[in-house]
Amino acid sequence: MSSETTVSQPIPFTWWLPKLPRVVALSTFYLVAGTVAVSRARPVDRWNVAGGHVVRYLIAMGPLWVKLGQVLATRWDIVPPGLIRQLRRLHDDCPPSSTAYVNDVLRRVYGDSLDSVFDSFNFKSLASGSIAQVHHATLAGGQEVAVKIVKSGVRESLAADLALARALVTLAHWLAPPLRRFHLPQHFAEVSQLLATQADLNRERRDQEEVRNGFGEHSFMRVPRTYPNLSTRDVLVMEFVDETPGRNWRSVPVAPETLAHRMYYGLCTMLHLKGVFHADPHPGNIFFTADGDVVLVDFGLVGRISEDVRWGLSSFFFACVHRRWELAAERLSRHFVKTNGKVTPPPDTLLPELADILREHFGKDADQWTTFGFLHATGRVLEQYDARLRASFAQIAVMLLTGEGFVHEIDPDFQVWKNARIFADRSSPFMSVELTNRFDRTHWRDRPRSRELRTKASGHLVAQNHLDRLIVPSQYPIFVKHAQASRLQDEDGRTLIDLASGYGPQILGYAHPAVTEAIVRAVRAGSLNGLGHAAEVALAEELTGAFTGADLTVFSNSGTEAAMQAFRMCRAFTGRNRVAKFEGHFHGWSDQGLVSSSFRFSGPTTRPAPVAPYGVPSSTVGDTLVLQYGFTESLERLREHVESLACVICEPMPAAMASCDVEFLRALRTCCDEIEVPLVFDEVITGFRVAYGGVQTLAGVEPDLTCLGKIVGGGLPCGAVVGRRELLDMVRSSGDPFLDYERRGLISGTQSGNSIVCAAGHATIAHLRDHPEIYEELNAKTAWLVDSLTDVAAAHDLPFFIRGTGSIFNLRFADSGAPDTVREHQQGSHFKANIALAYYMREHGVYMPELHFMLLNAAHTRDDLQTITDAFSKSLKQMIADGLFSAVRPARLAACGAPVPSRSSKTRHARRLPPVDMSTRAS
Ligand code: PMP
Repeated sequence: MSSETTVSQPIPFTWWLPKLPRVVALSTFYLVAGTVAVSRARPVDRWNVAGGHVVRYLIAMGPLWVKLGQVLATRWDIVPPGLIRQLRRLHDDCPPSSTAYVNDVLRRVYGDSLDSVFDSFNFKSLASGSIAQVHHATLAGGQEVAVKIVKSGVRESLAADLALARALVTLAHWLAPPLRRFHLPQHFAEVSQLLATQADLNRERRDQEEVRNGFGEHSFMRVPRTYPNLSTRDVLVMEFVDETPGRNWRSVPVAPETLAHRMYYGLCTMLHLKGVFHADPHPGNIFFTADGDVVLVDFGLVGRISEDVRWGLSSFFFACVHRRWELAAERLSRHFVKTNGKVTPPPDTLLPELADILREHFGKDADQWTTFGFLHATGRVLEQYDARLRASFAQIAVMLLTGEGFVHEIDPDFQVWKNARIFADRSSPFMSVELTNRFDRTHWRDRPRSRELRTKASGHLVAQNHLDRLIVPSQYPIFVKHAQASRLQDEDGRTLIDLASGYGPQILGYAHPAVTEAIVRAVRAGSLNGLGHAAEVALAEELTGAFTGADLTVFSNSGTEAAMQAFRMCRAFTGRNRVAKFEGHFHGWSDQGLVSSSFRFSGPTTRPAPVAPYGVPSSTVGDTLVLQYGFTESLERLREHVESLACVICEPMPAAMASCDVEFLRALRTCCDEIEVPLVFDEVITGFRVAYGGVQTLAGVEPDLTCLGKIVGGGLPCGAVVGRRELLDMVRSSGDPFLDYERRGLISGTQSGNSIVCAAGHATIAHLRDHPEIYEELNAKTAWLVDSLTDVAAAHDLPFFIRGTGSIFNLRFADSGAPDTVREHQQGSHFKANIALAYYMREHGVYMPELHFMLLNAAHTRDDLQTITDAFSKSLKQMIADGLFSAVRPARLAACGAPVPSRSSKTRHARRLPPVDMSTRAS
């Protein structure tokens, strides 16, 4: 294949100058004719009339100006609505380039292999836009394809015309003071950037594939696949769509309501869940299959929402959904309003005015709500303050607006706001009033003691229980009186099968006799702390024995402290400050541990930006390099930042994902060796859970330090770091107090390594060491439960994803399959249903932690697993009946657990953790 044609040289003045007389003549004519027509029109019709003239003017000027009009038609932030309505007519056919030209392009691109690439090629174009035209062809292998070809001379004249337009806009800006408030040169720069990439079909192909990947195996949204090997900057070859064009939706044998619903659902999925969206979903860019599937084509305009925009959007919608209009106005203004003046913050009067608009528009009945009405009113208010909506918001709005227009054409009764809310609601984990009322009745009924404790707790504790502090407070905490093996008994005598395993430590189940007896003995022996005792030595010996390459141990009281100790050792060892960590990996609640650990993320997927909750010093945030687990770019970034790095820390098997990328861990190990930066594995969860010796033993990758917690304390508060001597020496006295102060890292802890904790930890670890069959059983139980719950969800035709490895499993209701990253895991899921499931399960005798991964333990019996499965089935029936999935039904739903196509930069999961023997499945 020959190289691509490129025209990227600067455009000489002499190139566009000859065009000037024609431009001036046409401009003068349309300006005069338009002004006369507008002055005669009724005030309400003025923009419509002006728009009609602008459209005719752009058509007369040529195809590139048509494209400019098309792009402007998407800019509600700068173009008045009446004019936009007219500009949107510019999707009409344009004259195609000649057959000779098309032939020429094909010969240039495919050279001698042209005849072997295509079996047939129809030179009569199927469609012809301003930039490219589309032909039908058949590949040598028999596949029917659509071939998009950049039109003759488009790139050159695009560049020349842009140069000319820039000159004219700048001139108009300086010569006509009234125009200055529109900041035309600034807007033109934004738009022309977009236009300049229009003739690059490589870019379009990548965008198309990105949207396509976002849908994964979606059941009713489709995007034609492209042929990268046959595509270039001038030619884009893709799957041929032989379906009903959007405009002919009436001939699709599917109920219009279903078509409308699917269309809107697909658009909202792209926007709210995927963050990459087709920005111009007008009927010409949509096809319907006979089954009512929606096919999106033409990815000339693709929008992207950054993590920060998504954050702003979700927080704005959250306030709207809760009808807190002042807060919504503040969030809208903070995230999406741009003042044109220098640094003028919006005056105090702006927020109340915006709040009034929101109150009026979002508070309206669902069927009266339109994006158009809202944007129009907002635009008018902002204009008075010399402000406007940011381009990011405008692009989202125009996509919704375009979609809404078509959706309403198909089903005039379609309730836009109600359907958009489904998505807005989904990202907020709080339950609706109806559900809250329901659970208020069922959860507290016949539970006077629990109710009493809850009331008391709220008077004395910062939260009703340990977990309910921030972000996702549990609405229905349980108060446990007694726990034994796999069961919890609450204060009112109700028994629940536990799926939290104490959030990690209880791997043997509650009150295991070996552990209980060890604790009792240690208490009787005096509950020692701060003094030497045999239990501490025994546990340390056990831990260093369990991990290859671990020479020494140091104890603390929690996983959080273990990670803090590791950071200190590495900083002392390297003399550097910066910690590299992976997005979504949790290392406890220390300042350093909280950076990009959950809920909010920032920056592009492969190059995340550090972000932390309020209260974490910005210097700590700045001292963190945030990477993406599983992506080769992360290794490149480590190399880039080597000079400042104290260590790299990761959860080798991120618990939130319940999966491990062994190949990536190996590559990370090699990289850390090369750049000589210590590698820390946080195995606080996984340490003695997925295997005796943790993920590192299964994966065969040895870190320099390992953080431990949870299980190593046998159910009591404990943390530990084990690892290479030279790193642990950093917190050990050298015998020279001056050197210690200047060159070592100080750690302490009154209760660290106390005798009760060490006795409990030792009893647990020794039991695990002596009973290796526990791990086989845990694997088999996990696999059985994953399969059973998958079957149950499939039987109910629900969008569900579950993944489990070595007793850790994670489930969620979501339309896409396996997430690749924690941010994807979080974004693509139906939070509302996920959290509600926990409460439904409680009604059927199972304690499932809310929005948290689940942990099996050695005490779970096969009957327990069956009870969990039955409870899940009953819960799903109730959830469907209670309307939790009404938005996604009755459509046939996404294939659950289907793998997401891998990205170019993603390393393959060449070797997963060892498979589980299914023959031991419970019956
Ligand atoms: N690291 C990981 C991987 C964890 O999961 C946790 C807690 N869930 C911690 C560290 C912090 O441990 P702790 O709660 O004992 O402070």
